[in-house]
Amino acid sequence: MFLATGGGYLASLHNGGLAASRLLAQFGGYVTHYGNISSEGAVWASLTQYGSVMVGHSREDMLNSRMILLWGWDPARMISGTNTRYHLIKAKENGARIIAVDPRYHDTAATVAQEWIPIRPGTDTAMMIAMANVMIKAGLQDQAFLDKYTEKGTFPEVSVSFLIGPCWHCLEPVCVPACPVGAITKREADGIVVVDPAACLGNEVCDEKCRKACPYQAPQFGPQPGARMGKCNYCLDRFQQGKLPNCIEACPVRALDAGPFGKLEERYGTIREAEGFKVSTRTRPAVVFKPKG
Ligand code: SF4
Ligand code: SF4
Repeated sequence: MFLATGGGYLASLHNGGLAASRLLAQFGGYVTHYGNISSEGAVWASLTQYGSVMVGHSREDMLNSRMILLWGWDPARMISGTNTRYHLIKAKENGARIIAVDPRYHDTAATVAQEWIPIRPGTDTAMMIAMANVMIKAGLQDQAFLDKYTEKGTFPEVSVSFLIGPCWHCLEPVCVPACPVGAITKREADGIVVVDPAACLGNEVCDEKCRKACPYQAPQFGPQPGARMGKCNYCLDRFQQGKLPNCIEACPVRALDAGPFGKLEERYGTIREAEGFKVSTRTRPAVVFKPKG
């Protein structure tokens, strides 16, 4: 049995999707969709471009816009968060140009937009491709951004590469001597580089010496004044229970592995560089890459 549930306005039904899934579970289970029914494209794009879905702007930021494109979006009717229409009106008063792309001449198009583009239903992708075509032919695109953040190659031979940014638990960790109080150590038994938060002076006192020394900016600091350094510690608590780091287990395509460095070299070879990653011969990051076969 396949149960397709979605979001939307379910309040009056007290979330019928959950009730249906409970009922079907009584009959031995069911399968359902993965991802997000209504915004998987945006989720995928955010994850590939920014590495997180926790991105975006608050409605107030519309005041900083010069152009707002309402693509299939009618916040006057759908609400879509508190006061969206109010902020659209304020943005328009502030000089933003608002364009509604939608088959319907909807309430927002009628009251806020300066232009309504009556697209034919189901032709959104064709229109976006046409717009991209015009932009590229006219050279309006930000090529440096595209080269850095989007797929490489020519359709259909395109590819995209990802690089995680943990601490690489270097063989000669330059962060260790950079710390004025010896708060960072490389453990002899296993090579894991750890920080003692009790000994760390905090970023204001030492001016983030460890982060400045590390070629990979692995040491991180919270937003609070005097934050102490934090970084990947190879999930030490899990390691001590004989478990792999969280990132290894969480990677859906099993692209990561971890273990004694010699064993990793035996398993994957000795290639030390990858797209977007330059090996530092000074600190010697403990990582190898296996190119796609
Ligand atoms: S990646 Fe940076 S923080 Fe981690 S061990 Fe190497 S130098 Fe130190
Ligand atoms: S922030 Fe902490 S760990 Fe980093 S160099 Fe300063 S004292 Fe050492």
